[in-house]
Amino acid sequence: MPEGDVVYRTARRLGRALDGRVLVRSDFRVPRYATADLTGRRVLETVSRGKHLLTRVEGDLTVHTHLRMEGSWQISPAGRRVPPGDVVRLVLANTEWQAAGVRLGMVDLVATAEEHRLVGHLGPDPLGPDWDVAEAARRLARDPRATIGEALLDQRNLAGVGTVYRAETLFLAGVSPWRPVGEIEDVEGIAALARRLLHANRDRATRATTGDPRPGRDMWVYGRAGRSCLRCGHRISRGEMGAQPQERLIFWCRHCQPGGPTG
Ligand SMILES: [Zn+2]
Repeated sequence: MPEGDVVYRTARRLGRALDGRVLVRSDFRVPRYATADLTGRRVLETVSRGKHLLTRVEGDLTVHTHLRMEGSWQISPAGRRVPPGDVVRLVLANTEWQAAGVRLGMVDLVATAEEHRLVGHLGPDPLGPDWDVAEAARRLARDPRATIGEALLDQRNLAGVGTVYRAETLFLAGVSPWRPVGEIEDVEGIAALARRLLHANRDRATRATTGDPRPGRDMWVYGRAGRSCLRCGHRISRGEMGAQPQERLIFWCRHCQPGGPTG
């Protein structure tokens, strides 16, 4: 699932193709907006907010999209064929570029002043201009009984962290994902680490949290179940936590991150 860094880069790619240019085509292939037409309007800017994308258009309109599990925005020179079949949910094009939203998890068109109805619930965005580490820590600590693993994935606490950054952040913090937030002294330090990792990767096509982009060395724990911890040599554990099926996976090192289940 795309996390904050991928969505941030997607916003920049969309922005380079669309911002400042007048739309000559807008094709909403979702029933709710089948008749919406943005042609003739200039795109003002595209920004990311956690895992959400906001494309602001002249006339107080915002196109809100979310990649969810497997969505993407494919950008190509204007006039190229868009991907066939029913995978395209939205096409926005100007005379130079076209952007096809493929398998998007959400497509909305709202008044820009109403964006808060879609993204107002989100916590501070580590890649946003309004990042506030103290506020992120306050939100993470709201429910002291919640595990830090669940709290980190809750977009109301911190916007943009998914299963990869959750696992890597907690490894670097030396904190078991299973520890209740109320038992953790330095929640702010964890929020700051998550931000540091996302920030370090926001401009890179190849994600690495270890500083080593080689496959198998690029992550401390994520995707490394059963392999040796790069720091201590113990076997990396894999488990499931949380309610949403696609977001359950958690990887951690029982030795470097003590305090979780022992079995
Ligand atoms: Zn270890």
